[in-house]
Amino acid sequence: MSLSEFDLIERYFRHCGVKREDVCLGVGDDAAVLECPPGQRLVAAMDTLVDGVHFPHGAPPTSIGHRALAVNLSDLAAMGARAAWALLALTLPEAQESWLAQFAAGFAGLARRHNVALVGGDTTRGPLCVTVQILGHVQGSAMLRSGGRPGDALFVSGTPGDAAAGLALEQGRWPASPGSRYLRERFLFPTPRMELGERLREYASACIDVSDGLLGDAGKLAAASGCGAQICYADLPLSQPLLWAAGAERAHELALTGGDDYELCFSVGPGQIDRLLAQMPPQRWGYTRIGTLREAPGVDVVREGAVVAFAHSGYDHFSGPA
Ligand code: ADP
Ligand code: MG
Repeated sequence: MSLSEFDLIERYFRHCGVKREDVCLGVGDDAAVLECPPGQRLVAAMDTLVDGVHFPHGAPPTSIGHRALAVNLSDLAAMGARAAWALLALTLPEAQESWLAQFAAGFAGLARRHNVALVGGDTTRGPLCVTVQILGHVQGSAMLRSGGRPGDALFVSGTPGDAAAGLALEQGRWPASPGSRYLRERFLFPTPRMELGERLREYASACIDVSDGLLGDAGKLAAASGCGAQICYADLPLSQPLLWAAGAERAHELALTGGDDYELCFSVGPGQIDRLLAQMPPQRWGYTRIGTLREAPGVDVVREGAVVAFAHSGYDHFSGPA
């Protein structure tokens, strides 16, 4: 490496993200020392991005930096927690300065937006791989996957399917269409729904972030809640660019089975629905009702009264598309 490991950390990661008063000791010592707000619980999550698996080989470094943090933030959003600190384990084939500068800028931009400080990590040489650990806190109880009950309404934020279409465009598998730039941005720079997650804690019975496909992730929420779900095909929120790029049939399929959206899927008990809709208007907060939890296990998608079958429900790293 042209740049020493020490210089690399100093230059790109010592002051990445925001400076926070609750960081007693950040990058530079053997470990970080952090102060959790009194009375709050620490919430921790970790996610890895592997070159060629979670992003195409040669993806823009700003996107890799952004996504490495975004996928972690999204996990905290699903818990209704507020993010505070991150650790970054970076494995790089070589210390290329322009790559590092762009990667750090992508990471830092999102970190600043959500008031996150980078407080430590590890840097090693090897095939490109990025692991981030995110730490945050929650006042009272976090939202879980397991709190849903039959009869609860099921919602999703944003317009799922966009990121999967964006990836197809990014890889040149699809021809460009009006709105392809928007779709590619949805894959390259996903928006973790932090504010929505935090606010939903007052209303939702259960929540999960949609990373592997809505159908599969809604199924995980339902299974953890000891129930099943019915999703209404016609109610799926689809973006206009996705409809242009994929056509109506394929757009619905991508909304259900495409990955990388980092939206929130959540259930709300019958007694809380009116309050949610009144106090957090769906148009303003960007979420849509897509179905209902039910007693029978599994997830059915209902189209004009009939259950539609899908070839797969989402992505699984060991068995491939499920
Ligand atoms: P050690 O040998 O004790 O593991 P390192 O030389 O790996 O220490 O790291 C020195 C300091 O830099 C530590 O505080 C560590 O947390 C931090 N650090 C290392 N790599 C990164 C990184 N990629 N991002 C942020 N902090 C890092
Ligand atoms: Mg180390």
